Amino acid sequence: MSAVSLLRLDRLGGVAPGNKCFKLIANWNQAKAQGLTRLVSFGGSWSNHLHALAALGAEQGFATVGIVRGDEARENTAMLEDARSFGMEVITVSREEYRRRYDTAYVANIVQRFRPCMIVPEGGANSAGVAGCTAIADLIKHHAPDDEHVVLGVGTGTTLAGLVAGLGKGYRVTGVSALKGASDMESKINAYLQPYCSNSLARWQLVHDWHCGGFAKVSKALKRFMLAFEDVQGVPLEPIYTGKVLYAIHQQLASAGWPSDEPVLAVHTGGLQGRRGYPWLRP
Ligand SMILES: *Cc1c(COP(=O)(O)O)cnc(C)c1O
Repeated sequence: MSAVSLLRLDRLGGVAPGNKCFKLIANWNQAKAQGLTRLVSFGGSWSNHLHALAALGAEQGFATVGIVRGDEARENTAMLEDARSFGMEVITVSREEYRRRYDTAYVANIVQRFRPCMIVPEGGANSAGVAGCTAIADLIKHHAPDDEHVVLGVGTGTTLAGLVAGLGKGYRVTGVSALKGASDMESKINAYLQPYCSNSLARWQLVHDWHCGGFAKVSKALKRFMLAFEDVQGVPLEPIYTGKVLYAIHQQLASAGWPSDEPVLAVHTGGLQGRRGYPWLRP
């Protein structure tokens, strides 16, 4: 039977546990170097990214603005309450307006409104974010040097790119896509990897079969797996990324899709604040 270990980023990162703080600290350092003390970003009403941004802003002493995709039923989530109590200025916008978040003219308007400020893209998906995530690779090399197959959840691919760049040759990285039909994800990741020397990267692949219905969707089988996993292992998961990652690993090993003699290191990327949005998970 194959050994599976967990790198618990959910237990690292202080006020902002998980992978998001690795991307955001790097962005904050860049902002500081430019003399900017306000970070503006985008996300949904349960966004792990905005939650981490608000928490880090409170801790490190920078101002934060969250442009939040409006969603009538879920406007006052526990995430948004936390964000406001951390001091984030929360601006709720319509779904139509939110769709313009990559539009240059729209972003220029946002800058105008909140300047001086730095805009961080949704999910912390930029080159500073990738560079910040190479520090996760250092943790792996230090604490689990023999686990050559590293598996993690993928939303924007920023974290995976940082791992691939930071781990380098000798490692293999599998990304479990949390999105359905994200056919452009490979090319986005390749673009993130462009600045890094191509012959010193880890081998990597994405698997697209474990979204369980789509982003933030949950299947019956995933629910059953997560409840059993949490019961047996005593490790909390959330359904958007980490639940799907552990489910994928379980199924791949059970079906011999992956060799059973190769140890696997699963990265627990955090996101546990989002558990509060799922009443079927035990608090
Ligand atoms: C954001 C997030 C991810 C995905 O990270 P990307 O860098 O966007 O691919 C994975 N797991 C958790 C818990 C997250 O919050």
